[in-house]
Amino acid sequence: MQPATDSSPGPLDDVLAARLRAVRVRVRSAALAAGRDPAQVAILLATKTVPATTVRRVLALPEAAGMLRGENRVQELVAKGPELAGVDVPTHLIGPLQSNKVNAALRWAGCVESVDSPGLARRLSERVPPGRSLEVMVQVNVSGEATKHGVPPAEALALAVEVAGLPGLRLTGLMTVGAPSDDEEVVGAGYAELAALRDELVAGGAPGTGAARELSMGMSGDLEVAVAHGATIVRVGTAVFGPRPAPPITGTA
Ligand SMILES: *Cc1c(COP(=O)(O)O)cnc(C)c1O
Repeated sequence: MQPATDSSPGPLDDVLAARLRAVRVRVRSAALAAGRDPAQVAILLATKTVPATTVRRVLALPEAAGMLRGENRVQELVAKGPELAGVDVPTHLIGPLQSNKVNAALRWAGCVESVDSPGLARRLSERVPPGRSLEVMVQVNVSGEATKHGVPPAEALALAVEVAGLPGLRLTGLMTVGAPSDDEEVVGAGYAELAALRDELVAGGAPGTGAARELSMGMSGDLEVAVAHGATIVRVGTAVFGPRPAPPITGTA
């Protein structure tokens, strides 16, 4: 698949529109196969490394109606923010947030999907301007990989209950990045675990958890598995924008 970042008008829009349609077809088929209503699964466009001009164009396509946008790096969220001013599409932060970047996240994101510590949650809560509320999700590390962000499943409910009780925050659900495996059973087990945690959270009835129904899980390679296990938001990058350039070698990471 060729990267869809060409700046000439016309063909790029056609390519992007076709890929958006293809993703919708995949989500729809997976939902119907699972006996679910396709309207219950939102598509979030993961726009990391995609230039703001391309993001603006894709979001203006009729095929993108109702979709969300996600950035996984705060730096990119901030850099593209001004260029996307006036684009009326909910923006989620889907990557790690350090406490010293909380104000940037609050300025440019309507939802932080990556809350994975009480400290971060409290910091967000303290900084939310009066009269506003920030949507948040608790990120859970269902694959157990040390390199993944997110709280361990055993700590997820306690954190979610704490987050749900903080002023200024509205807990909308749970998020995970699936196991990097081609084995659908392995990936599916992680997604099933996230769904079970969500069910337990909502059934627990703690204050502020009643609306925490979202399950943000599944990416370009495994969205069918995620939808089969109840995903309500799938996060898609490559399937729409093509392969991403390799990250620069900095020698510090
Ligand atoms: C990049 C990214 C995605 C999208 O991944 P693709 O495989 O390109 O669809 C989803 N979620 C997160 C957290 C990401 O960083």
